[in-house]
Amino acid sequence: MPTRRNMLKRIGAAGTAGVGAAVLSSNTAAAKPTVDWEPAHSSNYTAANRGAAEIDAIVIHVAQGSAESTVNWFQDPDANVSAHYTIRDDGYKYQSLSDINIGWHAGGVGWYNDATIGIEHGGYVSSGFPDAQYRSSAELVRWLCNEYNIPKSRVSGVASCGGESGIMGHHQVPETDCGYNDHTDPGQYWDWDYYMSLI
Ligand SMILES: [Zn+2]
Repeated sequence: MPTRRNMLKRIGAAGTAGVGAAVLSSNTAAAKPTVDWEPAHSSNYTAANRGAAEIDAIVIHVAQGSAESTVNWFQDPDANVSAHYTIRDDGYKYQSLSDINIGWHAGGVGWYNDATIGIEHGGYVSSGFPDAQYRSSAELVRWLCNEYNIPKSRVSGVASCGGESGIMGHHQVPETDCGYNDHTDPGQYWDWDYYMSLI
């Protein structure tokens, strides 16, 4: 069993190496934020091989339930729904789908699943959201935007019928007739200005 002194020495050595590595890699992209990988059931999404050319936008959701129950639901073979990430109210991040795959989170016009990444947030549209949750979500979205060349700007108004790029709420995603849908999330208590300022 290592002594405390030896442990500290090892941490110190690793810390020194870490600083050197950080300097050497300062021109490369930031590391992906840490996520808890909890894979969705394969019957709840479309397997694909998407990259930056296929991923154009991010859709923000509120789960109307806890993050844990949302992630569990994506693992139920009968759910027929999935989003790539779920952010808990304390900022803890779950990932249920690889970014390369197509989630089923923005039904209606197929493009909004095909070309987006879906992010759920534990909680309810009828209440506010903790700062830790905004910050965690923004950290992830910033990384996704950099990784897939998605503009760090909000899609304004109601999306048309596919082809937008940027960040949008589920309420902006049109239904099958390309008209406005009946989803309200993330809702009136989601502070878009603050959220976008963090991204
Ligand atoms: Zn939604």
